[in-house]
Amino acid sequence: MKIAVVGTGYVGLVTGTCFADTGNDVTCIDIDQKKIDNLNKGIIPIYEPGLTEMVLHNYEAQRLHFTTDLPAAIKPAEVVYLAVGTPQGEDGAANLSAMWAVVEAISPHLRDDAVVVTKSTVPVGTNERIYSMLKDFTGRNCHVASNPEFLKEGAAIEDFMKPDRVVVGVRDEEDAEVLRQLYKPFLRTEKPFLVMSPQSAEMTKYVANALLSTKISFINEMANLCEKMGGDINDVRRGIGHDSRIGFAFLFPGVGYGGSCFPKDVRALAAMAEEHGTVPQMLRSVDEVNERQKTVMIDKVKTHFDGKLEGKTITVWGLAFKPRTDDIREAPALVLIDWMLEQGATVRVQDPEALEKVKADYGDKLTYCERRMGSVDGADALVIMTEWKDYHSPDFAEMYQLMASPVIFDGRNLYEPERMKRRGYTYHSIGRPTVS
Ligand code: NAD
Repeated sequence: MKIAVVGTGYVGLVTGTCFADTGNDVTCIDIDQKKIDNLNKGIIPIYEPGLTEMVLHNYEAQRLHFTTDLPAAIKPAEVVYLAVGTPQGEDGAANLSAMWAVVEAISPHLRDDAVVVTKSTVPVGTNERIYSMLKDFTGRNCHVASNPEFLKEGAAIEDFMKPDRVVVGVRDEEDAEVLRQLYKPFLRTEKPFLVMSPQSAEMTKYVANALLSTKISFINEMANLCEKMGGDINDVRRGIGHDSRIGFAFLFPGVGYGGSCFPKDVRALAAMAEEHGTVPQMLRSVDEVNERQKTVMIDKVKTHFDGKLEGKTITVWGLAFKPRTDDIREAPALVLIDWMLEQGATVRVQDPEALEKVKADYGDKLTYCERRMGSVDGADALVIMTEWKDYHSPDFAEMYQLMASPVIFDGRNLYEPERMKRRGYTYHSIGRPTVS
């Protein structure tokens, strides 16, 4: 199939590359000329495991193209994916200005039989609006489908190639069939291809992200209670997770969720609810608990140093909002870093992939460390904010020698408190007793 993907970000690039990998002829379009120039030179704008090799392979096979020339890419396309950003607007609702601009821009160039598919996360009713916009612009009943994306950054290729399910929202079976054929290579293990209305598909994406966010905020609130009341959230986790109605997934306490999706999608769904005259109590609480959780390491560091950070050197391990990505959008680490800088601390940062992105925003305010051990040399404390595998087993004895004081704030519960105590550390974690 000839496919055009408009918006070559995390989702657009992964979508286009995976469809090219199954033999389709894909053109990825973006308004960012530099991004497109780089892609045409083989420079991949994001870190995502396995993506670079796959882009290069399909580019060389001439099945994957990158351009800013939207008309030329749209004209031959049988399927046009819309994957532009839908960031949070000032009022919390999704900002769809890029989406509307693209719908208008593609309309004069669409083939009569082209299926326009929203991949971006868009409020319920967006598909309907695109359908009527295209009718106004073209005078035709265009094919408009919804195909929300459930991939996780850090495992995007794997998720796209082996989805748990594919959800499509369509007006007629013909459009569903086009998408069914497109997804066939990814569903060979009989994972479901779920056909529903565009509204249900749009809602499904928000409900999925809202539920995952709810699980995170729930376990974080329980972890905070454990700290106050004396339990250990890890034991509690084990105690509840074996209940088959509960399970273990997405119930890890930490420093709050970040990224470009959960925060904005929870708020966008709440905004939609309010627009329809209802009170989204749970959604608002999930968001509030999360905002509060992003400051939990601030409280711990502040208490430990008695509010005096001036002259202290603090090292932060993990800047990306989660491991295996370089994405720092809404990353909890940045909330902590901003506060420590305000307090006059010297802040050293380490991350396997996100250093460049942080450097672009913070310049010389921070000290950037390529090596884990170098980063803790002379530090008054280490704070772990992202659970990169690299951080699971450092040489604790060497680290003890290097640090000015052996204090660790572990926002991801990577280590065992009792062992850390035996190793001589003061060790703070989430929902577990502090040891020293
Ligand atoms: P992104 O910011 O990485 O990429 C968006 C791209 O669209 C950018 O490259 C931008 O330059 C381009 N763009 C903006 N306006 C354009 C225009 N008029 N014409 C052409 N290109 C234009 O965003 P993303 O993370 O890929 O997210 C895209 C959508 O997918 C969002 O709705 C998001 O909620 C959703 N989503 C994201 C993820 C994720 O993990 N990142 C997962 C599932 C769904």
